[in-house]
Amino acid sequence: MEQRVHKRTTQQLQVVYQVVCQSCSHPTADDVYLWARRILLRISLGTVYHNLQRLVDEGKIGVLSFGDRIARYDPTTVDHAHLVCRHCGLVQDVVLDPRVLGAGLKFLTRSGYTIFSHSFVAYGLCPACEKGCSGTLQTV
Ligand SMILES: [Zn+2]
Ligand SMILES: [Zn+2]
Repeated sequence: MEQRVHKRTTQQLQVVYQVVCQSCSHPTADDVYLWARRILLRISLGTVYHNLQRLVDEGKIGVLSFGDRIARYDPTTVDHAHLVCRHCGLVQDVVLDPRVLGAGLKFLTRSGYTIFSHSFVAYGLCPACEKGCSGTLQTV
């Protein structure tokens, strides 16, 4: 009996992790819940939250928010930047040249700051929305 409960818990954790890894747009807990339910019909939103937190605590996934206070989960745990589309909400990973980033950070550490972590977010329009927007602008 104990073992069966354990097996189910492990399976739920794996499904939550798998959903975050397979999603390419930094899903919210609600997104993860919707996808996880397609695999495990009886999983609850509470279980999804619990497992997401556990994965964050274990350093397997990252958590971030882009000014809207909604937590988004990120399977990429190495330092990287993000571009957020203001129109459709798409979140794109951006790899910044570490030399460029390092030069900026070195300036701060030389001034006596200690840096624990950093995040860089650019806001704009994704190519699809950019096309859509310029199309509308032209017709006006
Ligand atoms: Zn967009
Ligand atoms: Zn990311």
